[in-house]
Amino acid sequence: MTSDSAARQRGDRRTAALARAVEDGLLGPHAPVIGLLDVDGVLAAVEALHKAFGGPAPVRHTFAAKACGLVPVLRLLADAGMGCEVASPGELEQALAAGFTYDRLVFDSPAKTVQELEFALAHGIAINLDNFQEMARVDRLLSGREASGPIGLRVNPQVGAGAIGAMSTATATSKFGVALRDPGAVDAVIEAFERRPWLNRLHAHVGSQGCPLPLIAEGIRAAYELAERINTRLGRARITGIDIGGGLPVNFADEDDRPTYADYVAELREAAPGLFDGRYTLVTEFGRSLLAKSGTIGTVVEYTKSAGGRRIAVTHAGAQVATRTVFMPGSWPLRVGVFDASGRPKQGPAEIVDIAGPCCFAGDLTASARELPAVEPGDVVALYDTGAYYFSSHFSYNSLPRPAVYGYRTGADGQVRFAPVREAQSVRGVVEESGLAQADNLVALRTE
Ligand SMILES: *Cc1c(COP(=O)(O)O)cnc(C)c1O
Repeated sequence: MTSDSAARQRGDRRTAALARAVEDGLLGPHAPVIGLLDVDGVLAAVEALHKAFGGPAPVRHTFAAKACGLVPVLRLLADAGMGCEVASPGELEQALAAGFTYDRLVFDSPAKTVQELEFALAHGIAINLDNFQEMARVDRLLSGREASGPIGLRVNPQVGAGAIGAMSTATATSKFGVALRDPGAVDAVIEAFERRPWLNRLHAHVGSQGCPLPLIAEGIRAAYELAERINTRLGRARITGIDIGGGLPVNFADEDDRPTYADYVAELREAAPGLFDGRYTLVTEFGRSLLAKSGTIGTVVEYTKSAGGRRIAVTHAGAQVATRTVFMPGSWPLRVGVFDASGRPKQGPAEIVDIAGPCCFAGDLTASARELPAVEPGDVVALYDTGAYYFSSHFSYNSLPRPAVYGYRTGADGQVRFAPVREAQSVRGVVEESGLAQADNLVALRTE
């Protein structure tokens, strides 16, 4: 099967799932926005990732939990052979609840507390340290003991920015890791490894959306070359693992998977052939590229109107689920599909329309000036490629509740089957989360 036909089949599954979700009432007047996740699409991405790396270097693939920290999704990925990269206590607990064992976790975060480090050290969880102060903290915590899990140092190769500043991890002044091109930094890193027998990995997470592959590969090569230098200097294979992070960009413009994991590995093999020769265990931490194209947000059109000659469709999906797209529409455009009230793709004459969300600020648009089949109240709008970072990273603006998320598969009988992944948050839940139990406290403080 060519990747194009796999992508087309994924699109067909999505169309079938949307129609079925409307038919079953999962999406409709009482549930005007939902998330949908294509289970087979996710598994195909995991398989493509594993295939692309080949060998001979041993590889441990982890999923970056922040891209979709939903426990059933994490469990699916654990079941498919992935590990998990976590960067907060919440992500750590989600991963453990999903069934990842300690040895399949990688703990990153630029702001790890003493308590978090103690926990990771006690359980042999792989850690990537961010800076010299954190290394000194681990010195104290270990106080001469050996670490039971791998410990790495994150480096910033400072290769520069991609197209989206906020998504560029390897700029000169990025907050992540030790900035390698700063004066004296490389020597200081080498000395840090000399003094600490427990340091045995290097970590570089260079890319992300908007970064071209050669730029990412240049960053990984810098980490590899530093590992070689450290091992040569220390006269033995002290660094045994290189964690190359994630950051493969996703094609949001059409259905295809582009670039592929195979494209990325080819670029890496050219930039740093020695990385793959088996002397290093490789660790990866992909997020967006594993899930984005398997996710869809479905929403009901509540009203349509016209303002200053512009058609506007008011839906229930806005900044609360598509935060980046709404605030940075130029960097995070989404493909939009229009379906009729029974969930069938709409045909017919196109119009130029803004797709708006429910939030009370003017910029709450998920698409603007888009040419789409005429939209009417009761229609369904789908935001494609939203499986990573969208419905899993809720923004509670206007106290809008987190929508339900369903996974789907097509059974042998050709019928779409759904499995609940997350319940919709109730309005009561929103109120409880808003200090309901503390309701009297401020008045009481005033009258005390
Ligand atoms: C966010 C993040 C990832 C995943 O990035 P994607 O662009 O989603 O692949 C991996 N590693 C670290 C350290 C991250 O912060």
